[in-house]
Amino acid sequence: HSKELGGNQFNFYVTEMNQRTERRMLLESKLRCALTQHAFTLHYQPKWDSQSLRMTGVEALIRWFDDEEGFISPAEFIPLAEDCGLISEIDDWVTHRACQDLLSLYGESEPQLSLAVNLSPALFIKEDVYRRIARTLEETGFPAHKLELEVTETLVVSEVGSVYEQLSKIRNLGVEIAIDDFGVAYSSLSRLKQLPLNTLKIDRSFIQDIGTDPNDEVIVRTIIDMAHNLNLKVVAEGVETEQQYQFVKNHLCNQVQGYLFSKPVPLCELAVLLRQQDQAPGPSSPSVQAKL
Ligand code: C2E
Ligand code: MG
Ligand code: MG
Ligand code: MG
Repeated sequence: HSKELGGNQFNFYVTEMNQRTERRMLLESKLRCALTQHAFTLHYQPKWDSQSLRMTGVEALIRWFDDEEGFISPAEFIPLAEDCGLISEIDDWVTHRACQDLLSLYGESEPQLSLAVNLSPALFIKEDVYRRIARTLEETGFPAHKLELEVTETLVVSEVGSVYEQLSKIRNLGVEIAIDDFGVAYSSLSRLKQLPLNTLKIDRSFIQDIGTDPNDEVIVRTIIDMAHNLNLKVVAEGVETEQQYQFVKNHLCNQVQGYLFSKPVPLCELAVLLRQQDQAPGPSSPSVQAKL
């Protein structure tokens, strides 16, 4: 009887595996077309100073709409793009476009917001990331000190020999480096100390359980303290509740990001948010000339 069940289960797994392979192959061929057919767009999720709650920066997040599949999550297609060698083209496009978008919000004046772009760790294996970033800055005229690159912690723990050198050259341009999803890949303190970093972004999984899991609260507190001792800024990502916000704010986390404040929005909505902020009483800020 149990044998029979096992057999059925086996068939179930095989079917599931085939379905997954098929979807992969389907998406892979669609992905190749998407780049040339302008099927990607960008959304921007604000980051806020945790004390003043003023918007200090935005993170560009890629969106892919396919006529048949609808919206496909970057969590699904970015790993695929890494596997089939399309990631450098995609991340190049994102960086270029995001720089242009942000510049367009400010007309002739310099952007007040910093711009964060996610870079796949896979780029650092084969590509000259430094050259690509330098070229994008040159071609768009975006101010280097307003650009921030988010690389995941897996890059920190990876053995890619050129990571230190590439990050240092990028830092020397004035560009900032943030470690995304921090806390999940167990990077060592000594490794963190070696790299030319500016910011740690605490992974959403730790923020989520503030208020329910005391262990996660200890982890968040510890990451904030450690980061500050290493002279790094800290961002809490995925803040969804007032309680989570109060906790990270009270522990002097520098910036917050999450649905509690804003979801990722298209450029035109970002322009509206900025205008609202400009009109709010408080320290004066340069006017935003949104080209809508
Ligand atoms: P990430 O860089 O850690 O981005 C944060 C993700 O969490 C985003 O998902 C964002 O929409 C989502 N998020 C933000 N606030 C909240 C919240 O309060 N609650 C919840 N539940 N989620 C929140 P998204 O846009 O689906 O992106 C997923 C991941 O895909 C990103 O994680 C990043 O690793 C990758 N990714 C996105 N855009 C790009 C890109 O242009 N290039 C590369 N290489 N990777 C990208
Ligand atoms: Mg990110
Ligand atoms: Mg993250
Ligand atoms: Mg993430």
